[in-house]
Amino acid sequence: MHVLVLGGTTEARRLAEVLHPRPGLRVTSSLAGRVAAPRLPPGEVRIGGFGGAAGMAAWLREHAVGAVIDATHPFAETISFNAAEATATTHVPLLALRRPGWVPGEGDDWREVTSLAQAARAVRDAGRRVFLTTGRMGLAAFAPINDAFFLVRSVDAPEPPCPPHMELLLDRGPFTLDGEREVIARHRLDVLVTKDSGGAATAPKLTAAREAGLPVIIVRRPPTPGGVPVAATVEEAATWVQTLSGAPFGSASG
Ligand code: NAP
Repeated sequence: MHVLVLGGTTEARRLAEVLHPRPGLRVTSSLAGRVAAPRLPPGEVRIGGFGGAAGMAAWLREHAVGAVIDATHPFAETISFNAAEATATTHVPLLALRRPGWVPGEGDDWREVTSLAQAARAVRDAGRRVFLTTGRMGLAAFAPINDAFFLVRSVDAPEPPCPPHMELLLDRGPFTLDGEREVIARHRLDVLVTKDSGGAATAPKLTAAREAGLPVIIVRRPPTPGGVPVAATVEEAATWVQTLSGAPFGSASG
């Protein structure tokens, strides 16, 4: 069975690692092509958009795909809706793999918003030295803020418009708690802005923010397409594929 993994996340790569060695499965991972030097998963990899839902449907037919796993980032909304539409028209089973969102703990000062524009408005009341970890896209929302300093951390450099007082920290997770404490202290940051990406790789910043008494402006996730089953872990998603393919679990089950 040919499995298409829509990727761009740690979980997508891990899923490809688990599925690739299994007998009877052919795995293709799809990346958008946003990151200059992505960490490539094993198996086949295709890079670049499909051309909307219709383009994806054509790709599914042409490559005889038997199952799709949407393991894209929780904030990659368009591709998820395209996958729902493309698999519905081609009658290919679809599963969404979504790591659970973060939840605040004792001592956290979280301010929830639903967009980067709202996050930018919330920043004005929250601090003047901002740890901005929402990725390189969408910095335009913060560009008009000229009375705050932004430490922008992203994998690749953002494109303008960007905030006028900004320092760029090019880095990619996983991050450590000690490292996050150090970044906050060194730059004297007083507010953290993050998307609710979930997962352990980038969670230490939340602990470091709590310890340092920083408010956290957290952008909540957009909705997922209705009717699509959701797995919370790579293992659950791998079991779904295995059941669908009808093949027995091999020794290389990961
Ligand atoms: P998006 O807004 O949902 O998608 C925009 C367009 O990019 C899609 O319509 C599709 O083009 C193409 N695309 C997106 N993901 C693709 C994939 N895995 N394979 C092939 N084409 C893809 O996505 P985004 O928010 O720009 O994110 C792009 C990628 O970065 C995703 O794969 C996501 O997993 C990853 N990522 C996103 C975030 C985030 O915060 N948004 C964070 C970390 C990683 P066509 O319509 O032409 O098919």
